[in-house]
Amino acid sequence: MPLTNAQARDLAAVVHPYTPLHKLREVGPLVMGHGKGIYVYDTQGKEYIEGMAGLWCTGLGFGNEELVDAATEQMRKLPYYHLFGGKGMEPAVELAEKLKEIAPCPVDKVLYCSSGSEANDTQIKLAWYYNNARGKPEKKKIISRVKAYHGVTVMSASLTGLPNNHRDFDLPVASVRHTDCPQYYRFATEGESEAEFVARLAANLRSMIETEGPETIAAMIAEPVMGAGGVIIPPEGYFAAIQPILEEHDIMLIDDEVICGFGRTGNWFGATTLGMKPHTVSVAKQMTSAYAPLGALLLPAFITDMLEQQSAKIGTFGHGFTYGGHPLGCAIAVKTLEIYQRMDIVGHVRRIAPLFEKRIKALADHPLVGNVRSVGLVGGAELVADKATKRSFEPAKTVGAIVARYGEAHGVIVRAIGDTIAFCPPMIITEPEIDEMFDRVEKALADGEAHVA
Ligand code: PLP
Repeated sequence: MPLTNAQARDLAAVVHPYTPLHKLREVGPLVMGHGKGIYVYDTQGKEYIEGMAGLWCTGLGFGNEELVDAATEQMRKLPYYHLFGGKGMEPAVELAEKLKEIAPCPVDKVLYCSSGSEANDTQIKLAWYYNNARGKPEKKKIISRVKAYHGVTVMSASLTGLPNNHRDFDLPVASVRHTDCPQYYRFATEGESEAEFVARLAANLRSMIETEGPETIAAMIAEPVMGAGGVIIPPEGYFAAIQPILEEHDIMLIDDEVICGFGRTGNWFGATTLGMKPHTVSVAKQMTSAYAPLGALLLPAFITDMLEQQSAKIGTFGHGFTYGGHPLGCAIAVKTLEIYQRMDIVGHVRRIAPLFEKRIKALADHPLVGNVRSVGLVGGAELVADKATKRSFEPAKTVGAIVARYGEAHGVIVRAIGDTIAFCPPMIITEPEIDEMFDRVEKALADGEAHVA
């Protein structure tokens, strides 16, 4: 098909992240024009169900007028201010108060930034700062996991456990170690039960800590449900098994709630759903329903006390982003949380999750689908070349991407993570809309099957 004017202009001027750039000229970018509810429309007016809530982030979907009004009002009142040098503004205070109320662990104060990557990057800086402050300058390594996704800044990308985020970027940096990915379907050995798998991963973690030396390890970072690594839900008992090992060795647990936070898994935070007991939390994405960029760290008193003590020693707290706690983002987040609470988003997710799960489970009957998984309103369907042996397709065949592309033809946007098709629709989705989304996905799978045949 010849490129539209919007596509040609895009190709000539824009670099697209996470895109096979060498192929983009062939397929053409998909340029969106507007959105409403769970739907987006391209510049030609074609409708798509946004089955990924953008990038796991527009919890309230598109065109929410209350958010537009909150943004407009804040824009008129105080379009920009900051928190440097002891300055403040009301939206940042109000949001921090709300976050303290709903946090999944004791939180003393909130430190703002503009994105998930910045939040995780800052977590690591604070872990280092903390260990220097308490006279443990050797305690600096960070444990993450294979297939983790924590962002793309130098440190966050190092924490990320995906090869394409490291290769030829000279990453990961030296202080990061990756322990096992808790994906039973892919990494359990022949005949191993879930409980045995969990015990093995816990033993491996212990052995990594002991080999490295616990006195050299500051923290472990984990998403409750691993999102961009392929929607990986750890087996029952996983966090309960690894947490005592971390505690025993004085290793802090950083909870990356950038995807799981604010209702996605059927609780305010994924930590609650997965039985995770973190010391500190990173949030972003659904906090503003993605209507403006905003990230935050929910910090315990032992960190905020340390910041004050360090300030007394050094003279200041030498960290902060120009747009961290931007009033627009904070005002939108305050309104987003108010709407989530008013509409009981957690209850809504719990009420419709069974249908979401039923439709995902039904995909397992399809010849291409080897494994399905879901919790709350996030899920994945992993495509395989052979269901019996779990053999994957050759990566070069890009079967996942091809199915996602067929999805677009049928009016649904899903994300191919390798050959896992991820689903993470706006949380406002209704039952009929869930059915419509999966009906469209099933058509895409049928086309995918014909393609690989
Ligand atoms: N952490 C998790 C769990 C994420 O899924 C993401 C982004 O998808 C990030 C961190 C990075 O967030 P950002 O893209 O806002 O930097």
